[in-house]
Amino acid sequence: MNLSRFHRFPLCLGTTPLVPMTGLEQRLKGPRLLVKRDDCTGLATGGNKTRKLEFAVGEALAQDADTLITVGGLQSNHARQTAAAATRAGLACELVLSRNVPIDTQTYRENGNVLLDRLFGAGIHVHPGGSDRMALADALAAEMRGAGRRPYVIPLGASYPVGSLGYAKAALELVVQANELGLSLDYLVTATSSGGTIAGLAAGFDSLGYPIQLIGVDVDAKPDAKDATITPLIEQTKALLGQSAKLSAVRVEIVLDQAGPGYGLPTAEMREAVSLVARSEGILLDPVYSGKGMAGLISLIRAGRFERDSTVVFLHTGGSAALFAYQPLFTEEAAVAPKNTSSG
Ligand SMILES: *Cc1c(COP(=O)(O)O)cnc(C)c1O
Repeated sequence: MNLSRFHRFPLCLGTTPLVPMTGLEQRLKGPRLLVKRDDCTGLATGGNKTRKLEFAVGEALAQDADTLITVGGLQSNHARQTAAAATRAGLACELVLSRNVPIDTQTYRENGNVLLDRLFGAGIHVHPGGSDRMALADALAAEMRGAGRRPYVIPLGASYPVGSLGYAKAALELVVQANELGLSLDYLVTATSSGGTIAGLAAGFDSLGYPIQLIGVDVDAKPDAKDATITPLIEQTKALLGQSAKLSAVRVEIVLDQAGPGYGLPTAEMREAVSLVARSEGILLDPVYSGKGMAGLISLIRAGRFERDSTVVFLHTGGSAALFAYQPLFTEEAAVAPKNTSSG
């Protein structure tokens, strides 16, 4: 794969652990379950954007940028990790955020990721839901260039080929870890939104010729994400790696039944998943991404999707800082796992 020819600014504190989830495995009578702890990258409460930002910040520094600009929702984990990465790299940071979730509690406006963005000293520009955030970010960049500054704009979720290199690298890390454990990984399940994570994994595993099935759990209620974003991004990432566009060893599937009413909006299945994993593994998920991703994994296990002797990895993409923005959802009564999980 030769990733050393790309610029990279180290942000992960080390290899993230790949560990068994025996408590959950027993409760669900499932296949062998492991979790890849990318919630433990070590940057500002962790998460999957850290790996992508290593390559994005590397590129920004190579271009002699003095400021990172990026976009997201008000409670964006990507914005929070970008703000922290900027401080590590000695860059300024401007966040173009939109109110893309119809929740307007004080905790949602001020706590969670927003609190951390402020602590890292990022400039925060809040726009109404439905705003064209990339156009606003580009306009801000133009304005800054006019004032003699050197901004570098990172797209939504750092989901562009440069960012996806971070997950091609993660695929390599996972293969090494699985080999050390004497396991072959049959499936990897993870939440998917802007697509850079699953696209990078697909490109990385494929270039290693590692036959794995990647299952992305859509959290956006965007049924066309695979064709519209993920497949093109896989092809662009493979091209950046100097490889043929089509996948040969890897299969990618997107499941569409967990997004519920939409991005950032709670479902009963998500709440069950968050409390079940907290109580069986002592691991924190989040309401927007990893909680719905885990709900997807639980639902596939219950539906008998995996062979009993197969090995399934859940990629934990982080996000627990957002729990504090959703505090009313996790009061004591609400956090009790519902018995009947078929109701939405
Ligand atoms: C951004 C994010 C995702 C989705 O990753 P994409 O690369 O955008 O598909 C999943 N989980 C968490 C916690 C995230 O912040």
